[in-house]
Amino acid sequence: MPALMPRPSILSIEPYVGGESKIPGVNRIVKLSSNEGAFGVPPGVQDAYAKLATELHRYPDGGATALREAIGARFGLDPARIVCGNGSDELIGALILSYGGEGTELVMSAHGFVMYDIAGRYAGCQVIKVPERNLTADVDAMLAAVGPRTRLMFLANPNNPTGSILPASEVERLRAGLREDVLLVLDSAYAEYVTRPDYDPGTALVEAGTNTVMTRTFSKVFGLGGVRLGWCYAPPHVADILNRVRGPFNVNAPAMVAGIAALAEPGWVEKSVAHNDEWRTKVSDGLRALGLTVHPSEGNFILADFGTAERARDADAALKVRGLIVRAMGAYSLPQCLRITIGNAEECGMVLDALGAFLRGRDG
Ligand SMILES: *Cc1c(COP(=O)(O)O)cnc(C)c1O
Repeated sequence: MPALMPRPSILSIEPYVGGESKIPGVNRIVKLSSNEGAFGVPPGVQDAYAKLATELHRYPDGGATALREAIGARFGLDPARIVCGNGSDELIGALILSYGGEGTELVMSAHGFVMYDIAGRYAGCQVIKVPERNLTADVDAMLAAVGPRTRLMFLANPNNPTGSILPASEVERLRAGLREDVLLVLDSAYAEYVTRPDYDPGTALVEAGTNTVMTRTFSKVFGLGGVRLGWCYAPPHVADILNRVRGPFNVNAPAMVAGIAALAEPGWVEKSVAHNDEWRTKVSDGLRALGLTVHPSEGNFILADFGTAERARDADAALKVRGLIVRAMGAYSLPQCLRITIGNAEECGMVLDALGAFLRGRDG
């Protein structure tokens, strides 16, 4: 019996396993396991980042003022209600520690983003996972799962790893059915990729009330996963709480410079979204033609169902032989599925070729 022990809930956490990036013995790796944007780092970011090299002895602006103003201008939001973080993961954790903790419950959908579960357990919350319909969050079931001790509800919209989405009307119904003392966190990490007209990333609900927060990230369409930069849009009293608990310099100077340059990159989001629309359709249709079930996705990734865990594992191995790394889904209780990021055109072609060869070899 070791003398030193963490709080009991912490031992129930399974460590987060990120997308793999290396395969022993394979030289050219195509990493399609972490939903990083298809076009790499925006060129303007690379210049801005390099220019900062001689200024790294300076502390960053702890208020992230220029970055919050740039985000506000881009998305039409009040910078005073924006809080930036070392990835949106940091903000998710800070919200849970601030409003949840021992004796409270956090509600999420069964295949919601795994960080809510990890950060919820870290804080000591009881994490309630609500069954979905067709791998999509079920608003009625989410509301029915709320109890007197519930303080937090998380919804990734679109959701990772399922790619599913709820229209604005359903998210409004969810908020309307929640008590005032329950914070609804809308994680809109993939918002830029959504082209459906019935979608709202959460802005309207944040502004309409006092208990909804929207989180966003620079890690996906803006191509900055490596610098760790996210932000949230919150009611003023929630922004105030986050500004009390966050580290005074939680966003580093290179991340801020990179974020501002990414927002300024001409045509970047438009180009990325057009590419994603085209190739998400081509990859989905191609895999369906090979006999796989591909769930409809609103993100820059697809979830392909191979029927059994064994077949998914064999497909994963066949992809790896060709240097293609995708995401196994055992940690999400979807071992029969693989999540595949939409890469550039060549990379998407490689996935279709590899899975075509795998399925043909196996089936006939
Ligand atoms: C990728 C992702 C994030 C982004 O996390 P960062 O910490 O900002 O890199 C957040 N939520 C979901 C659902 C994601 O898939």
